[in-house]
Amino acid sequence: MRPRVFSGARPTGKQHIGNYLGAIQNYVSLQAEYDCIYCVVDLHALTTLTDTGNLRENIREMALDWLAAGLDPERSIIFVQSHVPEVTELHLLFSMVTPMGRLVRVPTFKEKVRQHPDNVNYGLLGYPVLQAADILLYKATIVPVGEDQLSHLELTREIARRFNNIYAPVFPEPQAQLTSFPLVLGIDGRQKMSKSLDNHIELSATAAETQKRAAAMATDPARVRRTDPGHPEVCNVFRLHGFYSQDRVKQIEEDCRGAAIGCVECKRLLANNLNASLAPLRERRVQFAAKPSLVDDVLFDGARRARAIARQTIAEARDAVNLPPMPPC
Ligand code: SF4
Repeated sequence: MRPRVFSGARPTGKQHIGNYLGAIQNYVSLQAEYDCIYCVVDLHALTTLTDTGNLRENIREMALDWLAAGLDPERSIIFVQSHVPEVTELHLLFSMVTPMGRLVRVPTFKEKVRQHPDNVNYGLLGYPVLQAADILLYKATIVPVGEDQLSHLELTREIARRFNNIYAPVFPEPQAQLTSFPLVLGIDGRQKMSKSLDNHIELSATAAETQKRAAAMATDPARVRRTDPGHPEVCNVFRLHGFYSQDRVKQIEEDCRGAAIGCVECKRLLANNLNASLAPLRERRVQFAAKPSLVDDVLFDGARRARAIARQTIAEARDAVNLPPMPPC
């Protein structure tokens, strides 16, 4: 038995290079060492989403990118959160052992209240409880998180501990696998790359679209003329060269500082390297998209496998709480 990893992501549709560098490439490499469960958390998305018109499409597009990037349904369980309704039952059981005061103090709750003052719903408050149910339903022992997510995982561990102490030891306390997710800025060079800010470069963009996006990238603002020496340390184009032009990054730095390369050329080079790096992923995506039932097949099979684990855990949790056994179907 290999340790079990759980991670979930909201369905945001077509993924961009920020999603890839920040999470997807880590998902892919974890598969070599762990039994991984990757979940499209559609129920979490509802906490801030009132227009759900694109929800199904977004799930499909995200799953296509995951598969094209190398998430392997033979090795990992890939599924949609709401396909395993046991998670909502566990959420409810956990809500009974989670102090309100603890939830109100969660920094992301305060932040969401600031961001969505017109829609402060119970779901926002209960978000970390649902997150605990996501992880513990599958008894995952490892959760890849960035520094900013550590407090959420700590709350999951607290909920597991409280449940175990009050009723019976059912749940493991999962450990964080601290991952240094790089902060990938958008083409504006100021804010985190994000679809909603329209400052992103999609993994599945065409080569020409990628060139166009790269050409629009902000660079060193002090470099006004082609002959001005540049400051790569403040330039987001240079940062991305760090990921996509690793064999030439030293040379680019020197050429930028000495004004031996212009920003137009530098951005074109970045786009070329991005296109070369993403070409296999894009090719696989086209092939997968051409099979209309492929995504559903993968997600349904993932849900079936996830549900087998979930049913077992829920039975143990109900038993610990002393709820009556479920009647036979
Ligand atoms: S040459 Fe490249 S690294 Fe230097 S400022 Fe221009 S875009 Fe940025």
